[in-house]
Amino acid sequence: MSLSDWEHVYSGKVRDLYRLPERPGQVLMVASDRVSAFDHVLEPGIPGKGEYLTRLSLWWFAQLSDVPNHLVKAQLEVLPEEVRGHAMLVRELEMFPVECVVRSYLVGTGWKEYQQTQSVCGIPLPPGLENGDRLPEPIYTPAYKAPLGEHDENISFERTVELVGAEAAAELRDLSLDVFTRASALAESRGLLLADTKFEWGRDAEGRITLADEVLTSDSSRYWDAEVYAAGGPGRLASFDKQIVRDWLSANWDGDGAPPTLPAEIVERTALRYAELLTRLTDA
Ligand code: ATP
Ligand code: MG
Repeated sequence: MSLSDWEHVYSGKVRDLYRLPERPGQVLMVASDRVSAFDHVLEPGIPGKGEYLTRLSLWWFAQLSDVPNHLVKAQLEVLPEEVRGHAMLVRELEMFPVECVVRSYLVGTGWKEYQQTQSVCGIPLPPGLENGDRLPEPIYTPAYKAPLGEHDENISFERTVELVGAEAAAELRDLSLDVFTRASALAESRGLLLADTKFEWGRDAEGRITLADEVLTSDSSRYWDAEVYAAGGPGRLASFDKQIVRDWLSANWDGDGAPPTLPAEIVERTALRYAELLTRLTDA
């Protein structure tokens, strides 16, 4: 079967979704090599990125085999040849409009919010924390999954109760914290800190809450090198993702007009960074 037999239904910044009339209720999610920063898709892509992220997701789904997930069983033969290695066939779920973010370190939007309110998503935190500090325990800091083109926003747990009901809200929180805690322990055993991650969950046809989207990839999570973190200094929060791209773009573009083309050296270093995470996590 070739990709041209499939009907293209949607393209996000990074992934393309397809359907096949013979396979109702299923979606083909193809991860491209496209890379985005500051909401712009950049040129060129990062060679291998789609494959690295897909392999990471599949590996995590396998580690978390007791958590119901959206993968279609025995899908390898069904995948169009052109996209094998960077695609997953999934069951289409009724998605919750909540991005289930868990953090064990204060960084990114969490750090921003903390500076203004000494809390994140309504969860009060101790005073005096610095950017990148470890939290007393992992916290669940959901975000509202905004419709296309709008920005997701951090919300309180109470707001998720309004959005999905009390029972589902509590389940999403408990499941997310549980999966995060297990994943962190595994990552730490390989010298990696899982600073934060975002899960997406949906309900399957039987009403079961099911883990969806990509999981624990470097596009949805921040991983740090435990040794580098412990050594301190400004490089300690370097994550295994497109940070190299973000840093280069900040230094070389004022945000006006189309972003500049990425230099070959930046592309290469970014690709190596994605590859390194996959090797360190999965080749143990
Ligand atoms: P962008 O990532 O460009 O900001 P996006 O999140 O819409 O936008 P993608 O992540 O590429 O783009 O698109 C994947 C979409 O598929 C997301 O909206 C995600 O919530 C949804 N999704 C993931 N898994 C499933 C599933 N099993 N059933 C239905 N929808 C799913
Ligand atoms: Mg997405």
